[in-house]
Amino acid sequence: MQLVFASNNKNKIQEIQALVPSDFKILSLEDIGCFEEIPETAETIEGNAILKANYVTKNYGYPCFADDTGLEVDALNGAPGVYSARYAGEQKSDEDNMNKLLLELRTANSRKANFKTVICLNNNGLQYLFTGIINGTITTEKIGTNGFGYDPIFMADGTDKTFAELSMHEKASISHRGIAIGQLIDFLSKK
Ligand code: IMP
Repeated sequence: MQLVFASNNKNKIQEIQALVPSDFKILSLEDIGCFEEIPETAETIEGNAILKANYVTKNYGYPCFADDTGLEVDALNGAPGVYSARYAGEQKSDEDNMNKLLLELRTANSRKANFKTVICLNNNGLQYLFTGIINGTITTEKIGTNGFGYDPIFMADGTDKTFAELSMHEKASISHRGIAIGQLIDFLSKK
């Protein structure tokens, strides 16, 4: 069965293709000829995952899943959340985003935060949501060079390293995205 992943991130696509049952062929947006930017205008992480999956299913007719992720910081009432990629502006710079967050939390009482990934799957006219959450804290400085986004300033509970100090495999085994993908794969494996 062909299943579109609403992404052109080759790493994510290869990673997922290796994990799903072999009768599922994962197609990228490029594979189905979708080159336009899919609007991500919802005000929640769930909403954006749904928007992206629905866009592909409605316009291209494929079963599809889409993911959306955000970092939710307790002291900022859940910000940057759905706006994580462009927290410090439309330039979408990881460095600028981290610097802004460290500045905002300078005098905060709590540094608790969580990453949340929502995957929306549209299949056979039905819609399913899978959510992965990992709790942790925002460090006071950037540590580590692996990963991307806010990884150098996020330390998961129960660990003493930031995500940017973990290998890709170590991170995937505990991360928000790893948890959500695990749920999707369990679901597809039982179909
Ligand atoms: P996306 O929905 O996967 O594109 O993620 C939106 C934004 O959240 C990214 O641009 C990053 O700033 C941040 N983000 C998502 N996943 C991670 C992660 O695993 N580590 C650090 N930052 C992340």
